[in-house]
Amino acid sequence: MSDAQTTAPAGTAGLERYEHALMGTYGMPMRMLERGEGSYVWDADGNRYLDLLGGIAVNALGHGHPAWVKALTEQAATLAHVSNFFATAPQVALAERLLQLADAPEGSRVFFSNSGAEANEAAFKMARKTGRGTIIAFEGGFHGRTMGALAMTHKPAIREQFAPMPGGVVFLPANDQEALKAAVAQAGDDLAAIIAEPIQGEAGVQPLTHEFLTLARELTTSAGALLILDEVQTGVARTGAWFAHQLYGVKPDVMTLAKGLGGGFPIGAVVAYGERAGHLLGKGEHGTTFGGNPMGAATALATLDAIEDEQLLANAKNVGAHLTERLEQLDGVVEVRGEGLMLAIGLASPQAPAIAASAIDAGFIVNPPSPDTIRLVPALTLSVPEADSFLDWFAGHLAANPLTQDGGR
Ligand SMILES: *Cc1c(COP(=O)(O)O)cnc(C)c1O
Repeated sequence: MSDAQTTAPAGTAGLERYEHALMGTYGMPMRMLERGEGSYVWDADGNRYLDLLGGIAVNALGHGHPAWVKALTEQAATLAHVSNFFATAPQVALAERLLQLADAPEGSRVFFSNSGAEANEAAFKMARKTGRGTIIAFEGGFHGRTMGALAMTHKPAIREQFAPMPGGVVFLPANDQEALKAAVAQAGDDLAAIIAEPIQGEAGVQPLTHEFLTLARELTTSAGALLILDEVQTGVARTGAWFAHQLYGVKPDVMTLAKGLGGGFPIGAVVAYGERAGHLLGKGEHGTTFGGNPMGAATALATLDAIEDEQLLANAKNVGAHLTERLEQLDGVVEVRGEGLMLAIGLASPQAPAIAASAIDAGFIVNPPSPDTIRLVPALTLSVPEADSFLDWFAGHLAANPLTQDGGR
């Protein structure tokens, strides 16, 4: 995107103002973005990008999907917010819809939040409400930045400056069955919950094995503890199933959702399976002002409808398989991980940040969650030709810049 500029680009001026007005929590943004349509976004200088990050697995329907825009604008004009002293039809319909998609048994209930971290906060309080003290979480897991969610998130770099954390959380390596059995045995009657992402997203799309998740289910069932699955990133058709745990044939006691649920509108949810989990939190024991507000619920319903009407579960599977097949043929790619349209390209050397920087200059937004991993979590509407445009660029880039063990220098 190197069109000659006679004046300073609009984006550059905007980013300078950003730096002086916003806290530096995110580092410098890559571009000022102005608008989006389908799988594409445009920056403030008119350059177009194929968006393979989708707002971090959020824009399930891409940008500006007509049915989503209609649902949001009609709901905004009808009734935007009421507080939880009142119910609204979209909120009730969305709760019923989630219970149905989750195949949740009689007695199951939903709680609405505004984000993934808040959904996990509610799950954390449910674990505490069992009266037991120990929560097992996994290395590589990410559950959010609020104190409770952070207490269950392993990464020392984002935790340790904020000590003390709420206590009782034990971290284990993911996929280590012996370590899990030992920790559950040690916790005994005190085990409140195991929390896990079926596929760890921020760790670079690292799936739990079927055996491991099945073991976690068996151990929590026999201990009378909760299996909490954080599907904030994997949920809502991202993996080609409505929820990733359905690929494993394992049903949780508690599932948390956010990211893709509102298709770009902030909404999170906790689905509590069965009578016990469904009633752990009672009157006055949890709440949030915006939770389940009608605009969030209406956009989530529109997102779920479009996923169904446009067969996006199948599209996620098909386009994901196509990406995987072509990526696996490339020199420099050592593995492709993930399911559906939640994919990681494992590189032969730690060049992911440099590749992501070249990609955006070439008009493709991808994300490097770790030095040797490129993550793709695009709109579930991504087409094969759109995927191919990236694959063609990436193949050419790798051919011109082969990855070597010394890091390509
Ligand atoms: C993004 C994410 C969160 C946190 O969600 P926020 O909406 O950013 O608070 C929690 N868990 C997982 C698995 C995530 O990917």
